[in-house]
Amino acid sequence: MSNPAIIPFLDLITPHVELEHALTEVFHNALRSAGFVGGPMVEEFEKAFATFCDASCAVAVSSGTDALRFALMACGVKPGDVVVTVPHTFIATTEAISQAGALPEFVDIDERTYNMDPEKLRNYLEKQCTIDPSGRLISHRSGRPVTAVVPVHLYGQAANMDPILDLADRYGIFVIEDACQAHGAEYFSQKQGRWLKAGSIGKAAAFSFYPGKNLGACGEAGAATTNDQQIAARIKILRDHGQEKKYYHNIEGYNGRLDAIQAGLLQVKLAHLGDWNTLRRKRAADYNRLFANSDQSLTLPHEPSWSRAVYHLYVVRTDDREGMMAHLKNTGIGTGIHYPIPLHLQKAYSSLEYRCGDFPVCEKIAQQILSLPMFPQLTAEQQARVAEESLWFLKDPIISQKRTTDHSTALLS
Ligand SMILES: *Cc1c(COP(=O)(O)O)cnc(C)c1O
Repeated sequence: MSNPAIIPFLDLITPHVELEHALTEVFHNALRSAGFVGGPMVEEFEKAFATFCDASCAVAVSSGTDALRFALMACGVKPGDVVVTVPHTFIATTEAISQAGALPEFVDIDERTYNMDPEKLRNYLEKQCTIDPSGRLISHRSGRPVTAVVPVHLYGQAANMDPILDLADRYGIFVIEDACQAHGAEYFSQKQGRWLKAGSIGKAAAFSFYPGKNLGACGEAGAATTNDQQIAARIKILRDHGQEKKYYHNIEGYNGRLDAIQAGLLQVKLAHLGDWNTLRRKRAADYNRLFANSDQSLTLPHEPSWSRAVYHLYVVRTDDREGMMAHLKNTGIGTGIHYPIPLHLQKAYSSLEYRCGDFPVCEKIAQQILSLPMFPQLTAEQQARVAEESLWFLKDPIISQKRTTDHSTALLS
């Protein structure tokens, strides 16, 4: 029995229990056909997911990290190249860049959307790079050619793509979307005069189906999307040991294929993704209403008019983040920090020789961000309690300490 006093950060059990019959059917079918890797279940899911993203092709792979690595390689990123991205993302973004043989370099984020700031990208391309006699764009930092930019659609909200695409065009570099948190997110392109789906905007895009994502497998999975058949064909070869035909290897590739069972499970869940995203948007609007009178102490998510976010996470900011997190924990409410340490300050990237102060917006918000419980099945009562406890803490951290003690006693009794 789950304790009603506990509000989890994420509930992965309810949606699977609700779909248990259809999900186990996938497993039974796989046992009877013994088609475990690739095959028709994978192809059907690829078609359905491409349609969902308004992209012409989707290639299913074993993780979001592989999707991004293969997308970069298939688009032509070469060992020794520089790929520009943001320091405020999950490390898989830069791992994929490094695994493609390239070097990650960073530009800071926008303080309101937490995504790549096109002005910072412009500044990087104009001031921190030069075009060499052969026409290549060379980074001053590393002396290496810059060939791609990876905007991340963080927390389920698209990055501001029009100016990023414009700049990339002007400097002859290509754009790969990290859409690993943004299944179904939409961006209004002023230039095209229409809404575009995440995964259909850049030259290619990467999605993750890690269990906690808006669309999650029951294990590891991912997909790359693109409108370019040739790029899709290259990604297919990369995921399957470099072979176009069994035992005819064009290149040395990887084992990055998707299990048929995971594809089947994803196909079942994909039918619900639209509704789940709608519920997430409702939950976000409800939080916004509940927090409407929290004065200046709480910064709510900002959704620009050109964005329809799918709220993979609902992230607020406050000065006493640690205090608020501890208070919520003590009252049985789960939270998270996405992410506490900017990538340029991680030990793993000390060799890049970035310093504290290099990306002030990202460094500042990393101290303040807090992700509140967010999942489609979150109830109005649960949200009301999250809001009540948060507002109580923000009004009076001292009183809330006493109340927490009382409440914990109540939880125990
Ligand atoms: C989850 C995630 C990834 C990686 O996906 P995996 O499936 O875990 O490999 C990449 N980028 C971002 C922004 C993510 O959130």
